[in-house]
Amino acid sequence: MAVLAVTAVTATAVTGGPAGAESSTTTSTTDASTVVVSPDLATAEPTVVVSQDETTVRASSALQRATDVTTDQATLSKAQERKIDAQVEKVAGLLESRDADSASRSGERSALPQGTAAPAAQGDGSPVTATADEILAANRAAEREAAQDASGSAPDRAQADETERAEETPAEEQPEEAEPAQGEAEPAEAESTALAKATDTLVDLLDAAQSDTVDVEAAPETPADITAAQVAAARQAAAGLTKYVDSVVGYGNGQIPSGELCELDFAPGETLRCDAAEQLERLDVAYAARFGEHLSVNDSYRSYAAQVATKAARGAMAAVPGYSNHGWGVAVDLNGGVESFGTAKYEWLRENGPKFGWDNPGWARADGRKPEAWHWEYSPIG
Ligand SMILES: [Zn+2]
Repeated sequence: MAVLAVTAVTATAVTGGPAGAESSTTTSTTDASTVVVSPDLATAEPTVVVSQDETTVRASSALQRATDVTTDQATLSKAQERKIDAQVEKVAGLLESRDADSASRSGERSALPQGTAAPAAQGDGSPVTATADEILAANRAAEREAAQDASGSAPDRAQADETERAEETPAEEQPEEAEPAQGEAEPAEAESTALAKATDTLVDLLDAAQSDTVDVEAAPETPADITAAQVAAARQAAAGLTKYVDSVVGYGNGQIPSGELCELDFAPGETLRCDAAEQLERLDVAYAARFGEHLSVNDSYRSYAAQVATKAARGAMAAVPGYSNHGWGVAVDLNGGVESFGTAKYEWLRENGPKFGWDNPGWARADGRKPEAWHWEYSPIG
């Protein structure tokens, strides 16, 4: 950010009925100070741009925002950049001619405290150095002077003229009494409307550009990102999980009480030793990010009785009862595509499973003594 713009405004709003009507005319003075401070320049002497009214302030801050957006956003498309640049040019042009016009009509209003800036700095919109408080004080003083000058002849008209420049209301909605006293105020009003519209367009373009950026930032993580995050979490958790290795010590194979085991959150009813379960859940998050579905668990902890039944059903295909890692709560049988060697799911698990402590053991691989693509075992990592 090259320019630090501090914009001080004094706007007078007139509400109520027409002059001379029964209802009283209320004049309220609003002092607003918009200070745009970039973090790196926060301690620097502020550079101040004096502005006359809300329309100008909005335009100025939109221009500042455009500078920030086009500077900071690498994701801005060429088309967006062209549109914003064109609109910035338009707003800047209108702002400049309006500033010049405004200065010629009421140059004194924007006079700065003596010694803080050269008078020439106001009309052309070039930055001048003064504090926001000084600007406000100067504007208030000028405001009072202008009010006193005008009070002799046509106070209501003078105030109405202020209103037109302070508000962005289209000309047709202005009360008749608000007709400018001087002919030159009419082009100023048209300029104001044009500037307000051009500013609206610029703001819309900037909003669109920034919402695109937000979308980009909020875009879903890639499966690889998610896997990396889960792997990191698995490594971090590893030390804290060692206590679960001991949790089943003292029990026989297939004799572990269910209270010592943990159920898989993605596969209700399936249980494992708690460290094995926790790391398999992390592996499942990564797997689901990659394949759009959870790991399909066909079997997990297997009691001794179940191992006997399995042996009876599968014969040579099943482990001798009492010797299966299923009986220790550290093995699962998977299907859903993993159960065949060479599938994308099997290969993905071979590559990523070990990062979580899970692997298809050597004896169960394609070239092992008893190939079982579906059988995966856990051993603590780290
Ligand atoms: Zn198995």
